[in-house]
Formats: sequence, structure tokens, C-alpha cells
Amino acid sequence: MKFIFFFFPLIFANNEENCRIANPDWDYYSQVTHVFGIPIVATREVHPSAIALTCKYFEFLIKDNQEIVRNLQRRNHKVVILGRRQELARDVPEYHGYEKKLHSRGVGGTRHNPVTVIPEENVLCLKEDKQPGDIILHELAHAIHLVGTPRGLLQKIARSYRHAERYNLFLYNYAAEDPREYFAVGVQTFLNKSPAENYATFDQPHRRPLRITRDHLFRNDRHLYSLVENVLLKKEGWKLPKRCELWKNGIMDPNTLVDSFDQLL
Ligand SMILES: [Zn+2]
Repeated sequence: MKFIFFFFPLIFANNEENCRIANPDWDYYSQVTHVFGIPIVATREVHPSAIALTCKYFEFLIKDNQEIVRNLQRRNHKVVILGRRQELARDVPEYHGYEKKLHSRGVGGTRHNPVTVIPEENVLCLKEDKQPGDIILHELAHAIHLVGTPRGLLQKIARSYRHAERYNLFLYNYAAEDPREYFAVGVQTFLNKSPAENYATFDQPHRRPLRITRDHLFRNDRHLYSLVENVLLKKEGWKLPKRCELWKNGIMDPNTLVDSFDQLL
């Protein structure tokens, strides 16, 4: 794979180029787009609109926090979209031999392996999707935590997690697993999906909406709420389009999605 050098401030200033799909002549991945210079790649079997929507979600999550963008750039973070018929350990070279967790086809990037994997069927809301909730937000939240890492964030999350543990503030069992899942689930809850989507975690039963919203997070765990607010720098008045609703009349082409997404925010 070729190395590409970016002039970061210029790329940060230029949002218009984000999320357009190109088809480079690379050995393995044949589709690529960028968000502030951070690549999102896939093989040719993946629908380009899955790449474009992941890109718009990522742009939404990081665009207001330049520190996160710069850290993701300089630590060579990359996103791979896993095709609906592909296997993580077999078809993503960056995870060859990886022992996957039973419940997930997604992985969040870390400093050690800054590659985040998002499953296509979840992005496109296909019926074969077996995973609960929004895996795009979940895995990208891990990448923001562990690769984008604004100064002091690791310590703040660890402290807030210990506080939640002490006072039993976890809204989901999965959030209690460790500080990483605690933060990722916090981001999902903060972004306040519809009742059909807000179950957002790996708690059982998967198919029953738990109806936990941003207000619950605000009332229940104010530390985590403020932490997510300060990382994403989101003010009131915005809302993230629901991925399943975007496709309800069929999967639109990637350029239409990119052109219309911001008007839906
Ligand atoms: Zn996770």
C-alpha cells in the first residue's frame, strides 16, 4: 500500500472533500474514502454506500474536536468495512488470526493496532445483521477513546468508571465490563437513538428495545454525560440521522447520501 502524506491543517479546513469514494489500484482494498485525511477502505464486494455512511458518521463524531482528528491522523488510524460475506480473521489482513469475540464482527482500533472494523450489514441495516444496535458508533467511540485520545481522557474515563462502579450507575450490563465498553456505550446513549435502535449494546435480550435515552444518561451518570459532551463537543439541537431510516426506501447511492446527510443533522 502506498504512503500518502497529508498537510493536516489544510485537510482539516476542507470538509467538502470528505467521504467521496475513489477506486484506487491497490493490491487488496479497491475502494477508499477519507475523512480529514483518515482513510476508510473496503474490498470491491462492499456496497460503497456503507463506506459513505460510516464516513459521514465519523465526520459527525470528530469534526468539532481538532485534537482527536490530529491524533487519529498522526497515529495512522484506518477504518475497514467488513463485507457482509466476509470474516474478520480471514478477510481483514490487519486482523489475520484474530480471535474474534462471539458477539461481534466489529472491532475498535487501539494504539497497538489502529484499525477499526465495521460490518457492512450493520451499516446498511440488512436483515442478516445479528448485532444489536449501532456498531458504527460503538467501534468509532473505541477509536476516539484509544487512538484519538484527547489529553487526559484515559484518566477521566477510568475515574468516571470507578465512580459508576461504586454507586452502581451502569445503564447496561455491557457498560460494566470495563472502562472501554463503559465509554463506548456512553457515546451511543448520548447520541440518543430511536427506541428501535437505542438498545445499542450487547445486553440480552438483543431484540427488546430498552428505551434508554440521553436523558437517562444525564440523570443517572452525570460524569459520563459530561465526559462524552466534552469529547464530542456537541451542543443541544443536533441529532444524528438514524441509519435504518436512511435506507427505508432502498439504499441510495453514496454521492446522494453524502450530499444530503448534513441537511439531516
Ligand atoms: Zn466494545
